[in-house]
Amino acid sequence: MVTGESGYFACAANFLRGRKCIFCGSFRVLHTARGYVKCQHCGKSKSLAKLRREIEILKGFYQLQPAYRLAQDLGVDTKVTTRVYRRLREALFHVTELEGGKLKGEIELDEAYFGGRRKGKRGRGAAGKSIVFGLLEREGRVYTRVVTYLTAEELMRHIQAHTRKGSVYYTDAFRGYQSLRRYGKHHIIHHQRAFVGRGRNHINGIEGFWSYAKHVLYHYRGVSRYHFPMYLKEIEYRFNHRRENLFKRFLKLYFGYVSP
Ligand SMILES: [Zn+2]
Repeated sequence: MVTGESGYFACAANFLRGRKCIFCGSFRVLHTARGYVKCQHCGKSKSLAKLRREIEILKGFYQLQPAYRLAQDLGVDTKVTTRVYRRLREALFHVTELEGGKLKGEIELDEAYFGGRRKGKRGRGAAGKSIVFGLLEREGRVYTRVVTYLTAEELMRHIQAHTRKGSVYYTDAFRGYQSLRRYGKHHIIHHQRAFVGRGRNHINGIEGFWSYAKHVLYHYRGVSRYHFPMYLKEIEYRFNHRRENLFKRFLKLYFGYVSP
């Protein structure tokens, strides 16, 4: 474990000791004879052993440990870690869709391909892969969407739904973006030309996000196409909150704890 992480996990100390209520943050907590902690403020109770185990599993989730390996490390059934992971992922999926308003200002747009077994086939239209459309506000959030086809209509629909009209857009030379100039200012980056990446004419932000997503997916090894959209939203959430204490956010989301 990295030393810097102890500070990250310090927020869980009072919960682990059974001094603070995981649901509401109150310190008015009683210990029952059956090993439960009962909150006098919100009235909820929970087995302390179970609470400790779930917090351990959330640490593993934060550290990108695959559920099966974490289960081995903790000496529990894979079902136990998988259940906690799934519940948090579902929460992240919904929260990420609800977060924030429309992106604005300088926005980078790009598409990427994920998964699929065939290696040789690359570029647009690669078979068996998930196509992801990504929109990134510089110095701000990223928004991603799994799309079926990369048509101009579909791209424009997402751009209109998730960005403010009149924004400044940076894209590559893909034809799907040709009607963008009617919606805002459009800068096209020609990758093959010299001086790419100088000044403001680049899409390094969204490309950084793709690298980050591939890094996370590498840890999870083998995400099915069916589950991919949920993993993608998890990655989006992690990226958008990367400067905050993610573990603390996971705790709050998982237990529904909403205290300052
Ligand atoms: Zn409480």
